[in-house]
Amino acid sequence: MRTGTLGVNLSGLLPIIRKYLYTHSDVFLRELIANGVDACQKLRTIAAQEGLSLEEELKVEIFVYPSKRQLVLRDNGIGMTEEEVEKYLTVIAASSAREFAQKYKETDIIGFFGMGFYSAFMVAEKVEVLTQSYRSEAPGVRWIGDGSEAYTLEPASRPEGRGTTVTLHLLPEYEEYAQIWKVRQIAEKYARFLPVSIYVEGSRINEKPLWRDHPTTLSEEAYKQFYRLLYPDQPDPAFFVHLNVDYPVNLQGILYFPTLRPEVVLERPRIALYVRGMFITDELRELLPDYLTLLQGVIESSDIPLNVSRSQLQMDPTLRKISQYIVRKVAEKLRETFDQDRKRYEALWEHIGPFVKYGMVRDEEFARKVRDIALFKSFEGSFFTVPEYLSRISATRDPRGFSVGFYVQDPVRQGALARLFQARGYPVVEADTVIDPYWLSYLELKEGIRFFRVDAQEAARWLEASDREGELTQEEVQAVKEALEKLTGLRVEPLRLGAGGPAALLARQEDQTRNPLQGLSAPPARLTFNVQHPIYRRYLLSQDRRWLEHTWDWARLLSGDLKQEDLQAFLERDWALLSGM
Ligand code: ADP
Repeated sequence: MRTGTLGVNLSGLLPIIRKYLYTHSDVFLRELIANGVDACQKLRTIAAQEGLSLEEELKVEIFVYPSKRQLVLRDNGIGMTEEEVEKYLTVIAASSAREFAQKYKETDIIGFFGMGFYSAFMVAEKVEVLTQSYRSEAPGVRWIGDGSEAYTLEPASRPEGRGTTVTLHLLPEYEEYAQIWKVRQIAEKYARFLPVSIYVEGSRINEKPLWRDHPTTLSEEAYKQFYRLLYPDQPDPAFFVHLNVDYPVNLQGILYFPTLRPEVVLERPRIALYVRGMFITDELRELLPDYLTLLQGVIESSDIPLNVSRSQLQMDPTLRKISQYIVRKVAEKLRETFDQDRKRYEALWEHIGPFVKYGMVRDEEFARKVRDIALFKSFEGSFFTVPEYLSRISATRDPRGFSVGFYVQDPVRQGALARLFQARGYPVVEADTVIDPYWLSYLELKEGIRFFRVDAQEAARWLEASDREGELTQEEVQAVKEALEKLTGLRVEPLRLGAGGPAALLARQEDQTRNPLQGLSAPPARLTFNVQHPIYRRYLLSQDRRWLEHTWDWARLLSGDLKQEDLQAFLERDWALLSGM
């Protein structure tokens, strides 16, 4: 046996590294698995070069011994000679540790920066490496270190022959890394798409990285199945985009548009980044513009620099290219679907629409690409593209010459008014998601439209009938107005609504905020009554207040404001009035 001392001063380093682990636990296991996988890959390469046949499966096996607080990684890769152990596990470990300390000084060290073998000392008080090189003439070696400068190195035979066994004697506070569930969880997260078999306590965890296959060879079902593998508890995705490019950046991946439903809680993690099959992070926000961050899926690129700080990464030109490519590809795939199968595209709109609208508001470049395939959903259920909608409303102008469009925020409460607009030939669109207010404002600015909610004060004038049939006289209007004001306590306004029903509730000016979370909370504050409706003549002739109560209930019924207990009174009154009682 020989003992030796490292040529650098490592004291003081371990506490830093252990502190780092609190926020980035688990990476040590990734590093050790990566080493085992590399060792197998190297052997594979050498075997191919030298024409050797490798009979057995190359693999990394992980075992836990909870009672001994041990975690063991065993690979049958290339192994190391004594010189290699000394060179790599001592000197290099020291240098990578120093590098680590340097990086750590940067305030925002990137979460996925790893430091190789030395990271084992984040969780272990002692690490034992038993290894035998593939060069069979070399004897095996056992190296034992405790993270300090001191280590021991001795010849030893490895019962399994070629390969490396790393045994971690865990610190008491990290004994959970000797628990099978914990180790399996980490291994599945980081290592299941690696190109070398990984076993946790005897069971293989590998899955096929579908994104590496060529898109033309994959069925729709294959993509869905892969999604279920990634997000076991989520409903099937609405839509996906397969990324596959070598130039100007190397990038593969599959992005999924999740099904958007109020009852579906989107699962984090979202987009997972892989490099050479190894999971790196799902928190790389720089990878996608914000309007696409709700997408799910995987991205793999060997061009993403990993050992830089987050602030450097933000400026990284590769990352920007990747982001641009993804945006372009998403827009292209959307257009392709629109062109090939508009019905399907419309059916998907509920799920993809929010991304598209948000993207248009946020990114001019993206907006240019999707402007013609962004859809309005009309109140009666059909869809218009922006150009189609513009041509539909081009004849409707406000006094300043802007095209005028009408929308509902709440198809139930504003439905009666919406139907009035539709009966007059105006298309009414639905704007009932959180992004719609911003999108409508964006379109007003970009396309010269003015949007009015159907119950907006300004909107009412578009409903005004041109003929005056059955209209009350001025004195009659005044009498009805005053009586209704007394009855309802609201401001009351006359309007010629033709055959459009006796009355409608309108929003107060200040309630017309487009934010659907706020806009409907306040009760409507104005009542419009139809001066052409015969019910008012009945009232004036009989002076029976019930006719007015009836219109008031009628308006509240239409806007969903009539309470259940008032509904009974309404129905009884209806019967009584119509049968002349
Ligand atoms: P890195 O993996 O980034 O090179 P490490 O400190 O993890 O840094 O490892 C240093 C070197 O030690 C590796 O490059 C490799 O040559 C050798 N090594 C580590 N683990 C193994 C292993 N399981 N089998 C063979 N060689 C290994």
